[in-house]
Amino acid sequence: MHRRREDSQNDRSPDEMLGGASPPGDLAAALAGLATDVSEGLNAKVLVLNRAYAAMRIVSARRAFCLLSRSIAEIIHVETDQSGAGRYLNYDLESWIGVSALQHEYERERHDWVRTVRFEIAVPRIIRLLGYDRLPEQTVKLNRRNLFARDRNRCQYCGRIYPTSDLSIDHVRPRSQGGNDSWENLVCACIRCNARKGGRTPEEAHMKLVRAPIRPKRNPLIALRLGNEKYQSWKAFLDNAYWSVELG
Ligand SMILES: [Zn+2]
Repeated sequence: MHRRREDSQNDRSPDEMLGGASPPGDLAAALAGLATDVSEGLNAKVLVLNRAYAAMRIVSARRAFCLLSRSIAEIIHVETDQSGAGRYLNYDLESWIGVSALQHEYERERHDWVRTVRFEIAVPRIIRLLGYDRLPEQTVKLNRRNLFARDRNRCQYCGRIYPTSDLSIDHVRPRSQGGNDSWENLVCACIRCNARKGGRTPEEAHMKLVRAPIRPKRNPLIALRLGNEKYQSWKAFLDNAYWSVELG
């Protein structure tokens, strides 16, 4: 069943691989403990690379551990020396547990942690799928969440930043004038600017866009995360990334 799905052209196998059944073996019991572990570490995000080291998507720490425990993925750990040069080290889960013991001692604050019954383990920032090397889908999903993220919650008319609840999605060229639902025609607008603009184009309303809306090359939610120091190691893998939908 798995094989047939992986072979299908309209590929959904990454999702299936990233979802999947519970882990077998020794670690199963330990990882089962994660299901009830409320430690912060489980909220951490993990970048998933395909076998060719191309960035694919972001998953939760829980899902990453599930993949690791089934030996579907390995850990990529980026180490930077004092000159700032980086090198990548590959670990399977078992050796990572050993490394974690050291990290726990010497650089505890640099990692997110999850607790199992027997030990604590650092959440890896990056994992690499061992068997999957096709490129993922190439489009970022057009939806409200991604639009707000692309525009960083900034009204594209007055330029102010608002909470999501105070923003609406504006059709730059109104639907009544043939404007469509597209990255290039949808922007965040605050309620006041949206009302002022009404069913007009920006020119007709004498309003100016802060910047021209474009289709993002990568998931805008990931760009937001890159601002966070702890996800710095993702950068090296994101330049040629293709993004489908962000998971969680
Ligand atoms: Zn506004």
